[in-house]
Amino acid sequence: MIVAQKKPLQEIMSSVRDYDKVLTVGCETCVAVCLAGGSREVSMLNWELSAARSLQELPLELGEATVTRQCDQEFLAELDPLVQDYQALLSMACGVGIQFLAERYPDKPVLPAVDTSGMSGNRDVGWYEERCRGCGRCVLAYTGGICPITMCAKGLLNGPCGGTNGEFCETNPDQPCAWHTIYHRLASQGRLKNIIEYQPPQEWFNQVPRTIIQPGYGYEENTQDA
Ligand code: SF4
Ligand code: SF4
Repeated sequence: MIVAQKKPLQEIMSSVRDYDKVLTVGCETCVAVCLAGGSREVSMLNWELSAARSLQELPLELGEATVTRQCDQEFLAELDPLVQDYQALLSMACGVGIQFLAERYPDKPVLPAVDTSGMSGNRDVGWYEERCRGCGRCVLAYTGGICPITMCAKGLLNGPCGGTNGEFCETNPDQPCAWHTIYHRLASQGRLKNIIEYQPPQEWFNQVPRTIIQPGYGYEENTQDA
């Protein structure tokens, strides 16, 4: 899932300083699961903002709304009747949701209340580990299911580098060396030949915005037309 963290309150205060009527919009999907931007976090943020602005004797009227997914225009429609009453929107969704909100209401300032960090797995409630950076050409088949782009500090596709300290990464003694882990995973599976094969450089498909059209898209409409 996509993981995000609430921005420091001072930064959020700064972004709403010119407004006195703001709608805070949460998302009930990834950011709710990772405790960053669901309905509970929306209420908590509004409470903090309200208290902080009261101390400054600059009252701030705050509304709150949380949609099922901010990254889906279908769910944003329910905000239409609310948005017109506010000067700005404060979004607690990931960067995708924030941009979809901004696209739907182009005449309203849409301000992020969270920093989006990436795609992570759940270790526990409140503990998330990044595992994928959406490179667009997945290499897990030859790396024993360990992502070198995310787990290696240098994102090496042909590791390890010369600085590996055996088990640990040269950049951080607490961080396992991804290629050490890959080596042992492949060895345990009898697939060490993978590590000898040269892997060509990544094409970094994630450096440009990508649009994915799945084969099943429009299938029902197309079959009805036929
Ligand atoms: S190789 Fe690319 S797609 Fe596969 S897990 Fe790593 S970043 Fe994600
Ligand atoms: S020590 Fe290992 S994880 Fe760290 S940069 Fe080198 S190959 Fe990558």
